[in-house]
Amino acid sequence: CGIVGYTGPRRAVDIVVEGLRRLEYRGYDSAGVAVVDSAAGGGGRIGLEKKAGKLANLTAALAEPDSPVGPSDAGTAIGHTRWATHGGPTDRNAHPHLSADGSIAVIHNGIIENFAALRTELEDRGVEFRSDTDTEVAAHLVAEAYWSLDGQNLGHTSTDDTPGRLAEAMRIVCRRLEGAFTLLVVHRDVQGVVVGARRNSPMVAGRGQGENFLASDVSAFIEYTREAVELGQDQVVEVTADGIVVTDFAGGAAEVRDYHVDWDV
Ligand code: GLU
Repeated sequence: CGIVGYTGPRRAVDIVVEGLRRLEYRGYDSAGVAVVDSAAGGGGRIGLEKKAGKLANLTAALAEPDSPVGPSDAGTAIGHTRWATHGGPTDRNAHPHLSADGSIAVIHNGIIENFAALRTELEDRGVEFRSDTDTEVAAHLVAEAYWSLDGQNLGHTSTDDTPGRLAEAMRIVCRRLEGAFTLLVVHRDVQGVVVGARRNSPMVAGRGQGENFLASDVSAFIEYTREAVELGQDQVVEVTADGIVVTDFAGGAAEVRDYHVDWDV
């Protein structure tokens, strides 16, 4: 129902939870966040916390000493408030959803109409599902697409060691999805990058200074920046602390409109 993504120098979990609070007016039944953190001993890891019920349930979980997210000072995070369409409003159906290997976290607004066929295809390949949502197929598919791109130079702008790879994985998957979706993904090995996509569902980017935002609605980031980028239909956006790169689902350059939010929200 509501989505927020952030990458920059601040404590991302705080920005994202605050953004979710600003989106509460839309109504929701569950909430969750994922951060891209560094793992003890090197490499990356995704920290995940999600709870059915009010945001207060999520913030209480984040305040627990053993929370995998709470103490994180990571600069990249995504957050979601859910209005369930597929699968009841439970902790396990709350977003974000992880891929089977834990490399990817996905949040989603809308409905993936062809999820049943995609789920069957994935289950036939041995993927075990951990929720009843339509969304979870996207987590597994983006993870598979990402690994399939191993070693290819895709020439966009992200800061991971294979530039553009996560955005390209998102484009590959979006070409297979039907229905209405705003999707945000992060990858444990791709520090400082959030990739979004939209079809028939709203998403806007916020341009900060040395930090950038993605959200379903400008109210999520308005206290940090009023410089917004309106994304069009069937576009993929790759956001880093210093750049917002938008393409269509085929990878071609896409037209976007920058605007200043001069009203109060
Ligand atoms: N269809 C997804 C679900 O039921 C997303 C719902 C939403 O937009 O919050 O989990």
